[in-house]
Amino acid sequence: MAAKATKYVFVTGGVLSGLGKGITAASIGKLLKDRGLRVNLQKCDPYLNVDAGLLNPREHGECFVTKDGAETDLDLGHYERFVDEEMTSTSSLMSGRVLLKLIQDERAGKFGGDDVQIIPHLTGAIQDWIMKAGEGFDVHIVEIGGTVGDYESLAFIEAIRELGVRVGLENCVYVHVVYLPYLGASNETKTKPAQNSVRELRGLGIAPDVLVGRSEKLANNGVKQKLSLFSGVAEDAIALLPNAHSIYEVPLTLEDSGIGDVINRHLGFKTTRPDLKEWRNVVKQATAHYDKEVSVAFVAKYLDNTDTYMSVFEALKAAAWSNNCSVTINWIDASKFDGPKADIGHVLEGHDGIVVPGGFGTRSLEGKIKAAQYALAHKVPYLGLCLGLQMAVIAAAREAGLIDATTFELNPQAEHQVITTMSDQKDKLMTGGTMRLGDYRCQLEPGSLAAQLYGKMDIVERHRHRGECNNDYLEQFATWGIQASGINPDRKLVEVIEGIDHPFFLASQFHPEFKSRPNRPHPLFAGFIRALN
Ligand code: GLN
Repeated sequence: MAAKATKYVFVTGGVLSGLGKGITAASIGKLLKDRGLRVNLQKCDPYLNVDAGLLNPREHGECFVTKDGAETDLDLGHYERFVDEEMTSTSSLMSGRVLLKLIQDERAGKFGGDDVQIIPHLTGAIQDWIMKAGEGFDVHIVEIGGTVGDYESLAFIEAIRELGVRVGLENCVYVHVVYLPYLGASNETKTKPAQNSVRELRGLGIAPDVLVGRSEKLANNGVKQKLSLFSGVAEDAIALLPNAHSIYEVPLTLEDSGIGDVINRHLGFKTTRPDLKEWRNVVKQATAHYDKEVSVAFVAKYLDNTDTYMSVFEALKAAAWSNNCSVTINWIDASKFDGPKADIGHVLEGHDGIVVPGGFGTRSLEGKIKAAQYALAHKVPYLGLCLGLQMAVIAAAREAGLIDATTFELNPQAEHQVITTMSDQKDKLMTGGTMRLGDYRCQLEPGSLAAQLYGKMDIVERHRHRGECNNDYLEQFATWGIQASGINPDRKLVEVIEGIDHPFFLASQFHPEFKSRPNRPHPLFAGFIRALN
């Protein structure tokens, strides 16, 4: 029997960027998965980059790594957390990736003398990537980055229009997310920009089936009527999404608006409404008031955009809820403490715990090493993530007297590079997509804190790094007061270190935050927050 054809949900945005299209797509995914459907998601990004690996995380937000090692947009993190499925590289499509392949095909003579054009070749190639990602799923949800009308997203918009014709419009739902500004002076929510955006989308050949109206405050129902009248979208296919206390409320709001059913019906599925009981509990935890609060000093480089550390923050919050407390995250600019005389102790003082997240480059490294030294000396709970492990090892070595211990990033010529470039990473000229990326195994040391937290010995976690513990120093670890409690069995790389005589000093070379879920916090984060209570 032939496999059933995949159906599609396309999510576009209008009026403004940053409306939460990713969260809307993820929420729709959750509502369809909970109806028993097999769901995949995909983010199409108009950037000419091939992937998100070389984008500045300060501006673009975190680089989310999939299990198969793709460096992707942070929206994939939302998809994973909401839908609770692990995405793969097919779920992230940037223009550069499609163009690179298209041009390579042209060079290989695959077009047999034809002109190679935006339409049909580029738009056709985009469709092929989308259909490939959707293969084997009941529904494939495709989010188009940017805002309708942007010059650079035109090829994607045209591609999803053509795809609708190719697979039949009855197999596609077009969801358009728009902004509804509120005018305080007249106490009104305005619909004109949204009307214009729908008109623009129609002008590009796409008639939206569902509208999601984002606003600061809840708009009244008259707004739905008006939007429906001017956009031609049925009133019951319009959801109003005012700012929520927690992003995890969005699936519930959409379900309560009936959008799950509208999409379900349009695509011809005969599934019933999900009860969303577990998710309601997540929202309850995320919005509850807790008597107990713990504080974390977040010692990082970029301080002005929470998106930069999205998965880490979500993991910390979920870990706090599971420990029946809330967490206050105080950002500390580590680069202010890079100078030899700068004392980070006075800003760390009073915090229940310290987190050093991942990072690249030289700026802020000395400040982070000092933070780890402080955690060791004052027995303050410490959680290090990737770079945070590397800084922790240097801190332990320095505390034990090896004062010129350092890392390849600070000084590639240094004598005591306790953190060094991995052998297969040396002299790499191409920096895009060449790190040690994605899932690798790790064996934990029986009886270690890490093994206790995981409750098992063999784990698989996601990676993104070039540097590693220098195994020449492994035997000195005990004299530095740390142990390697997790090792990659294939290459003997250190994956986890922990303090020997310390209440909680734990760091991983991998990124546990990517596998944390709002309803299932990662054990390392849960254990860290527990240690602060
Ligand atoms: N810059 C370090 C390395 O490449 C750490 C990477 C990270 O924190 N993701 O090894």
